[in-house]
Amino acid sequence: MLVDCHCHLRGGQIEEGGLGSLLDRARAAGVGGFVAVGTDLEESREVLGLAQAIPDIRASLGLHPHEAKLWEPETGAQLRELLMAPEVLFVGETGLDWHYDLSPRTVQEQVFRAQIQLARELQKPLMIHTREAGEETLRILEQEGAGDVGGIIHCFSEDKAFASRALNLGFHLSFSGIVTFKKAEAIQEVAAWAPEDRILVETDAPYLAPVPHRGKTNEPAFVVHVAERVAALRGISRARLEDLTTRNLEALCGWPPSC
Ligand SMILES: [Zn+2]
Ligand SMILES: [Zn+2]
Repeated sequence: MLVDCHCHLRGGQIEEGGLGSLLDRARAAGVGGFVAVGTDLEESREVLGLAQAIPDIRASLGLHPHEAKLWEPETGAQLRELLMAPEVLFVGETGLDWHYDLSPRTVQEQVFRAQIQLARELQKPLMIHTREAGEETLRILEQEGAGDVGGIIHCFSEDKAFASRALNLGFHLSFSGIVTFKKAEAIQEVAAWAPEDRILVETDAPYLAPVPHRGKTNEPAFVVHVAERVAALRGISRARLEDLTTRNLEALCGWPPSC
C-alpha cells in the first residue's frame, strides 16, 4: 500500500462530486492513505473537516509561506486549536519561498519560526516547503530546535548537501513528480542515495504531475509513478518501495497503523 504524504484536496470537491471519484481512482491504484494539506486558516479548517469525515485522510495544517502575510496576532492561537485535533499529523506546510516572494521575506521568516514553535509545543512533526531559500530554511530549522519534532522536507528539490543537513536534523525527504522529470538529475541522485528509512513519496496534487501525465492536473493516483521512479533509481521493486515509505511515515507520525 502507498500513501500520498502531501496532496491538496478541497472540501468543495465533495459538492462537485469530484473528490469521491478522485479518491476512488487513487484507492484503485493502490493508494491507501492521503495527507491533505492546508495552506491558510480557512483551508486548514476545510481540510480538517475532510480528515474528520473520511477515514483514509489525515491533515497537515498551517500557513504556507505564500500566505504568511495573512498571519495576525490571533492566528497562532487559532491555528493551535485546529492543530490539537487527533486527525492532524503535521504542522505546515510552512517554510520559505523566495522564488515567488508572495509574502515579504521577513514575514515568511517570522511565521515559519512561529509554526516551528507550535510544532514543538504540540509535539507534532513539521511539513516543510522550501524554494530557493535552502540555506535560510536550514538555519531557521537549526536555530529553532526543529530537530526536536522532525518532519518532512516536502517536494524535495534541493541537492545532496541540503539533504545531508536535513537528515542530520532528523528530517525525512519526500519525493514528488519532479523526480520523474528528465532534467532532475540532482534530485534523482538524492532519491537513489538517501537512507531507506527516511524516504517518502507524494504528489503535491494538483500541481507537478509526474511523467507520463506531465502538464495535466495532478491527482493522488499518480503517486504510483513517483514510487515507480524512486524504486527504479534505488534498484528495488515498487512493492518494496511502497512498504518502506509507508512504514517510514508510520514511524514518523504513527499513521497509517500497520496491520
Ligand atoms: Zn509546497
Ligand atoms: Zn503543497
